[in-house]
Amino acid sequence: MTTFHWLFGDQLGPHFLTPGPHGPDRDAPVVMVEARSVFRRRRFHRAKAHLVLSAMRHRAAELGDRVRYVKADTYREGLRQAVGSAPVTVHHPTSRAALRLVDALDGVRVLPARGFLVPHDDFRTWADGRTGQRLRQEDFYRWVRQGHDLLMDGAQPAGGRWNHDHDNRRPPPRGAGTLGAPDPYRPRESAVDDEVRHDLDRWERSGEVSFVGRDGPRLFPASRREALAALRRFVSHRLAGFGPHEDAMLARDPVLSHSLLSSSLNLGLLDPLECVSLAEDAWRRGDAPVNSVEGFVRQIAGWREYVWQLYWYFGEDYRHRNALGHRAPLPEWFLELDADAVTARCLSTVLTQVRDTGWTHHIPRLMLLGSHALQRGWDPAAVTDWFHRCFVDGYDWVMLPNVVGMSQYADGGRMTTKPYTSGGAYVNRMSDYCGPCAYRPTERTGDTACPFTAGYWAFLHRHRARLEGNPRMTQAVRGLDRLTDLDATLEQHRGHADAPP
Ligand code: FAD
Repeated sequence: MTTFHWLFGDQLGPHFLTPGPHGPDRDAPVVMVEARSVFRRRRFHRAKAHLVLSAMRHRAAELGDRVRYVKADTYREGLRQAVGSAPVTVHHPTSRAALRLVDALDGVRVLPARGFLVPHDDFRTWADGRTGQRLRQEDFYRWVRQGHDLLMDGAQPAGGRWNHDHDNRRPPPRGAGTLGAPDPYRPRESAVDDEVRHDLDRWERSGEVSFVGRDGPRLFPASRREALAALRRFVSHRLAGFGPHEDAMLARDPVLSHSLLSSSLNLGLLDPLECVSLAEDAWRRGDAPVNSVEGFVRQIAGWREYVWQLYWYFGEDYRHRNALGHRAPLPEWFLELDADAVTARCLSTVLTQVRDTGWTHHIPRLMLLGSHALQRGWDPAAVTDWFHRCFVDGYDWVMLPNVVGMSQYADGGRMTTKPYTSGGAYVNRMSDYCGPCAYRPTERTGDTACPFTAGYWAFLHRHRARLEGNPRMTQAVRGLDRLTDLDATLEQHRGHADAPP
């Protein structure tokens, strides 16, 4: 009997159809299921729903007669409709829920995961072998580089150092307003996008689903061809400038030199190895400096890979962790991406980016959106859900470690050694947001007090007992004792309550 191969909506690149003992049968007919219930369950950003559907339908168009593409209510129903009781193979899905589903279906054989560098078993062996030691991203990253001979000169890191973060944390250039990097690749919409937009309009009108955010012209690749064009443009025009201002934020230049490749990687349109290999080639040709290339390789072979592994390694309960006991619900203005209601220029700028594009770079996610949630004590599971729904690159596996662990410290420090939050001084140093803002980053109290500055002290005060034992936080916590206006600062923070800052 013919064995079909099932492609999930984040398994869209050619490497998910490579035949072999760990892949589908050669020329296996393909099945894809567009399950409408996914969109009913959660209120996604409309640009994200658009991108995922567009990418799936572009892939189906490429596969032509080889694919049975079914629109159904649920995956289970769609699969039965497409293949009846025929046997099916599928590569290891990227979420626990999807893995449970495929495991529970009769006749479905799960093949190893694709789209990542390290097999789960290898990671487990590495992690289990570190008994008594913390798991550290830096150690993992070096191990991956050695194992894959990435940016290595023999046994030594190419360029003489493993880590170039020191050269890659510069504040933005002052005055210019933009970094002046060459423009990133932007795709041109096709008839498939028109059809997707038409369907989304119809579903919304019928009241069946509802979205958040704006669905302007599609900004991210929806096909392999587009994703490769984006990767090549990044490597040849923008990689050289990637490193130095990686952490900077500019109101008029939200992308800076970032690659914008996360959604393509997470849709499976690009394979991480091809991204880091092209970057390394650019360095070897002398087209990009080592700090930028190492910075980019670290993001993909280090952080992305680490996050993927931790999602599975930390287990199912990880999503429910709430070590700081934060329980406040997300306020309406945040849920609705109501950037216009926000006075603080940093948050309003970044929320506008999320509303209009479903994307901001790493530092606004961590040090503005996540940091604000942490300071306000919002429920980490609700914050995770918000990020998952509102970002074009958000998936369960990437959200849990990034939000529960890195951003909300809800795992009590399993993933990071300290909580990531700051006062306005950091925002002022790393961005051009504060100049025209109605609030002053140095002020903790009064009408022009910066919500991040008051929020930072309130956070340290609230969790003092836990944080003062952490060597990386001791000095910050001691700062509380030097504040002569602590009560007024706490009152300032409380006074904001859920109102947009
Ligand atoms: P670049 O800065 O150009 O980096 C290159 C690539 O590295 C990215 O495309 C991405 O694939 C990878 N990468 C770097 N850091 C991470 C990381 N921590 N986790 C996973 N991949 C990483 N990334 C997502 O892909 N999806 C998410 O839903 C997501 N949510 C996040 C939520 C929070 C609170 C935080 C702090 C980070 C999150 N990240 C997420 C990581 C990171 O912010 C994005 O990958 C990055 O901003 C995407 O933009 P880019 O492609 O231009 O990245």
